[in-house]
Parts: sequence; structure tokens; C-alpha cells
Amino acid sequence: MSDSEQKYREAWQRRNRVRWAKATPEQREKLRTEKREWARAKAASLTQEEREERNRYHREWAAKKYASDPEARRKSREAAQARRERLIAELGREKYLELKREDYHRNREANLARAKRYRRENPEKAKAADRKRYGAEKRRRSILSRKLAKRFGQSLEWYDRTLKKQGGKCAICQRDFSGFKVGPAVDHDRNCCPGSDSCGQCVRGLLCGSCNTALGRFGDGPERLRSALRYVNKHLRRRK
Ligand SMILES: [Zn+2]
Ligand SMILES: [Zn+2]
Repeated sequence: MSDSEQKYREAWQRRNRVRWAKATPEQREKLRTEKREWARAKAASLTQEEREERNRYHREWAAKKYASDPEARRKSREAAQARRERLIAELGREKYLELKREDYHRNREANLARAKRYRRENPEKAKAADRKRYGAEKRRRSILSRKLAKRFGQSLEWYDRTLKKQGGKCAICQRDFSGFKVGPAVDHDRNCCPGSDSCGQCVRGLLCGSCNTALGRFGDGPERLRSALRYVNKHLRRRK
């Protein structure tokens, strides 16, 4: 900020203080509303970059302030909580949540980025929050559900159904999945989808890790497997 801008700003603030001091309660209420509307309009007019810059500035300012003054942090949190409660009382919970959702979606990208950054910077806190929110089992299921959908085009229902059909055992070696440290592997035909993920059409079943790897090593087709079987049998007969 240049010197003249700084001076202008100070004069403006002085003038506002005088106005505030002279104002009646009704006028103060009006000034408050005006200020709120001005701030809202200004916030709405920011570009994405300006918004990020403002948020970064505010984060730094808050970190500095709260490190030196924990009381300020408590106060600011209480004030935010009071604002929320006032809004809920004013609008009703339904409307409040609706506005909150709209607000979230208006800046969805930035909000997602912020959540991601928070998780990256506070992995322990984020995990603790997840545990509190989901519980370990629910969390495991939700991760599994995302993985199934994203990598194999399948649902949790498919997974549960298949696991039940296979009696909780690997479809090849028949060992119980409960004996493994890691969960069952979703097996797919790598002749259809060569990578680690499936198009959703070529998923075959659930295997233990070693059977799944073995199938892949044998090229996923019947020829080499049949040939391997012939080979093993031939040497079996010879030993007898
Ligand atoms: Zn197996
Ligand atoms: Zn496929």
C-alpha cells in the first residue's frame, strides 16, 4: 500500500470511528448491516486468485495472532459459534444448511483444495477426525467402496455377494481370507485390461494375493496354465 493510500485509509477509518461514536443504537444496527453487505459484495467480487491471496493472508495473520494470544483464538471461535447459532435461530436449521451447501458448492474447488491441504498438513488430526466420524470399520468399508468403483467398476454389494458365494475363501487355493493380513484381491482378466484396473466387464472373482499374482505371472490365459499343469504332472509321474 502506498503512503497516500495508507493516509486515505486512516482518515477513512477515523471518520468511521467518529460516526460510530455519535450513532444511536438504531443507526449502529444500520451501520452494521451496511458493513456486512459491503463485505459480502466485496467477497463476491473477488477473483479466484484474489480469494486465495486473501485466504493466505488471513491464515498467516491468524497463525501469528493465535500463537501469541490463545485467548484470542477462544474468543474468535466463540464468536463464530454465536454467529452460527444466531443464523440458525433466524433462518431455521433447514434453510441454514441449504445456504451452507450452496456456499460450499460455489467455491467447491477451493474448498476441496483446502480440505486436501489440511489432510496433508495434519495427517494425524485428519485420521483422528475420520475415526471419530466413521469408526474404523465404516472407514474401511468406505475406502473399499471407492476403490471397487474406481478401479474395478464394482459395488460393495458385488463384493459382499462374491465373498459369500466363495465362502470367504480364495477361489483358487481355498484358503480362508481371514488368515491373511490384507483383504482379498479383486481378480480381473489382464488380457482384457492389462493394467492393475479393470473395465468392469472382466472382473472374475476374489483371490488371495499370491494366487492373484500367480495368475498374472502366467499371463492370465489358459494356455500357459495348462502347459504348466502338464509339466508339473509329468514330473510327478516320473518321481513315482
Ligand atoms: Zn489363493
Ligand atoms: Zn477389462
